[in-house]
Amino acid sequence: MAIKKVVKYGEASLRQPSKEVHKVSQKIKNLVQDMLDTMYAQNGVGLAAPQIGENVRVFVIDVSTGNEPLNPMVFINPKIIKKSGACISHEGCLSFPEAYTDVKRYENVMVKALDNNGRSFVLEAKDGSLLARCIQHEFDHLEGVLFVDHSINRFEAEEVLKKYNLPPLQVEKLIDEPELTEKINELKKAQVEKEQNA
Ligand code: ZN
Repeated sequence: MAIKKVVKYGEASLRQPSKEVHKVSQKIKNLVQDMLDTMYAQNGVGLAAPQIGENVRVFVIDVSTGNEPLNPMVFINPKIIKKSGACISHEGCLSFPEAYTDVKRYENVMVKALDNNGRSFVLEAKDGSLLARCIQHEFDHLEGVLFVDHSINRFEAEEVLKKYNLPPLQVEKLIDEPELTEKINELKKAQVEKEQNA
């Protein structure tokens, strides 16, 4: 199919909530193929439809590495039906070239979605794995939420965006999930204690 241009941070479609897919039509299948082609061309591990300017509820992920065979996963109309735990995730995004920062994520998620054939499936990703974090990152794109909205340290995120000539952090978009923040602070405290005892 085709490699599409990736929408960059600052463009409106990244902040728009996406619409449900009513039917997994040929048009949607073509969109999925374009998304996979674009993701692989950019060496990404995930891509959501709004990142190629289509505000529909579709994302793709491939967390295979090195010599492993490609493992494209397609999520249409995804819903996160369970989430638990907390982890610190060092993330980037194809819409934020070169910019990485630490964000707050759940450690475990369960997602329900349709695959590329319109069949429903449930998938559980655990232990703060790349898949677990990637599902949350891509799901957010469908809500118009971006990874920097979950920044652990907003000042660090602001510095990173500035360094790579990206638009400034939208402070009003920062997400506050007190329970998650509390668990992350405990994690950080445990990390510091471990380092002090080393
Ligand atoms: Zn992204």
